[in-house]
Amino acid sequence: MMSVSLQDFQRKELIKKLIESGIKEKKVLDAINTVKRELFVSPEFKRFAYENNALPISNSQTISQPYTVAFMTEILKVNPGDKILEIGTGSGYQAAILCELGADVYSVERIEQLYKEAGIILKKAGYNVKLKCSDGTKGWKEYAPYDGIIVTAGSPSIPETLVNQLALGGKLVIPVGDKHIQEIWCVTKEKDKKGKDTFTTDKYQYFKFVPLIGDEGWKNA
Ligand code: SAM
Repeated sequence: MMSVSLQDFQRKELIKKLIESGIKEKKVLDAINTVKRELFVSPEFKRFAYENNALPISNSQTISQPYTVAFMTEILKVNPGDKILEIGTGSGYQAAILCELGADVYSVERIEQLYKEAGIILKKAGYNVKLKCSDGTKGWKEYAPYDGIIVTAGSPSIPETLVNQLALGGKLVIPVGDKHIQEIWCVTKEKDKKGKDTFTTDKYQYFKFVPLIGDEGWKNA
């Protein structure tokens, strides 16, 4: 008989909750069912790893709630081989989910300690993510354009630099609002009949994120 660990069981229970909350895409649910979230949280919070909550990580930041990760990933519509840029590496969990979807993942974090810790955890967990410690509101120009950009911190507006780093058909998924509450926006880059770039913005539900701090985000915490 195959043995099932407590974490395997808790992960399956979490998947049930995500389905009840409206997450539909099987490949997103499968990715969440595969990534060991307990590896990305600090030891004192490991027992809460599969509760559907954000949890603290170092430097007063958070690993996002699993529902938030699932919701934003679903909107991003990742296909295997897509080049995806994440802004706000944090614990590295969202980057691991993107890897499980077969994406080629680039991730930028502004806090050096988190950048270093995420690098160690992702490597240990077997995920190959290209990481950079920098202001992510400026994107990562060297590897642009991206099929998708996901911003995991709340922004006062859409950073123009990020939109300019999207490939044709690419999507930018970003929480936009004030410092207390943000709405998830998805900006899709297309071309009109004359070949001019156009951008369509779809707006989804509200969440609460830590602030996106940088040149094209909030100027301070
Ligand atoms: N995606 C993360 C995960 O899976 O754990 C959650 C990230 S946490 C909600 C948001 C992160 O965005 C924090 O680690 C924060 O330091 C980072 N951040 C805020 N402003 C940033 C910026 N301009 N560039 C890069 N990272 C930024």
